Amino acid sequence: MANGEQSPAIDHLPSAVWAALAQVPDPEIPVVSITDMGMVRDVTVDEGGRVQVTFTPTFSGCPALHVIRESIEGAVRGLGVAEVEVRSTLTPPWTTDWINDDARERLRQYGIAPPAPTGEGQLIQLEPEPTRCPRCSSLDVRMTASFGPTLCKRMYVCDTCKEPFEGFKSV
Ligand SMILES: [Zn+2]
Repeated sequence: MANGEQSPAIDHLPSAVWAALAQVPDPEIPVVSITDMGMVRDVTVDEGGRVQVTFTPTFSGCPALHVIRESIEGAVRGLGVAEVEVRSTLTPPWTTDWINDDARERLRQYGIAPPAPTGEGQLIQLEPEPTRCPRCSSLDVRMTASFGPTLCKRMYVCDTCKEPFEGFKSV
């Protein structure tokens, strides 16, 4: 048996896995990837080339868990990896702070109000951070439903431009 010639270089496998996962879209918001959302917490490769991916779902109420799991597994197998284990962990819980800046901008362009950082102003904060209309930046918005199509989002309507939009809950 020739040694190593056709097996993927294990040294480079973790970065290849990360790159592949960066192509996996968020099942709810296709303009951002699961790595943009900060969902992928850990990638490990053992000596045998087996890959383990640990992810934290964005919201425990999201129904897309199995979709994410299958997408991760498919992306890693696409690299020629035979054995993939995908684990989910809720510790520490996912926070909107893990969303990267670039993704926040794409969320806004997509028409979803990005979540406010959870750490800011918490001493004097009595109300949640104000939500702005992603189209006209107006703060004159009303929440129309506590939950959007999924438990992840809230529905708002802008009283300035009269457009409905979805917003994230900051968690
Ligand atoms: Zn507006």
